[in-house]
Amino acid sequence: MRAIDLSAITDEDLQACAAIAAEAGVDLKDCYQCGKCTAGCPLAESMDLMPREIIRFLQLGDLETVLTAKTPWICAQCDVCSTRCPQNVDICSTMRAVRLASKHAGKQPVREADIFDDAFIANVKSHGVSNEQYLAAAYNLKSGHLMQDAGNAIRMLKRKMVGVAVHNSQGRAEVAALVDRALAADAKRRADASGKGGEA
Ligand code: SF4
Ligand code: SF4
Repeated sequence: MRAIDLSAITDEDLQACAAIAAEAGVDLKDCYQCGKCTAGCPLAESMDLMPREIIRFLQLGDLETVLTAKTPWICAQCDVCSTRCPQNVDICSTMRAVRLASKHAGKQPVREADIFDDAFIANVKSHGVSNEQYLAAAYNLKSGHLMQDAGNAIRMLKRKMVGVAVHNSQGRAEVAALVDRALAADAKRRADASGKGGEA
């Protein structure tokens, strides 16, 4: 782990890191940096900071490092780290909370992951289920990776693994309402946390 200048850490940074941990239901003091979470993470090799380091930077209040890390955006939310932790630190939820904080701070260190998230939510909200072919098309268009699936798409169409028909769930209105409720709750929680209160 690289050295950090602790004198550059502000009270606001410390509070923001504590708020991220609180959102994940984690007490940062519980982590004693044993590394069991990192040892079990199937994606550690692709990460710029190890899961253990994300917790350490939160403990130290290094907000900028945490919010610009690619790790939470690469995390697959598999929960192995949280299961292995001898201190019951919920690292998986921490990754999710960091990702949300990073998005709301406009950091987007892995732009594609953010675009995919938004496309997936829009897809499920519209149809009540995920229509993979339209999800892939929306993602490719918004990310600029236009030809990314062209070769596979033709093969999959020929084998009828995907089609052009749109599948809509019977309960799609309820799913859309659920998505809206979750987004509104997230907006309200953030407004409350930043002291602006109550606007959703
Ligand atoms: S396994 Fe738990 S205690 Fe060990 S480094 Fe990871 S979060 Fe900290
Ligand atoms: S939840 Fe994320 S950080 Fe934890 S083990 Fe899985 S991929 Fe790694």
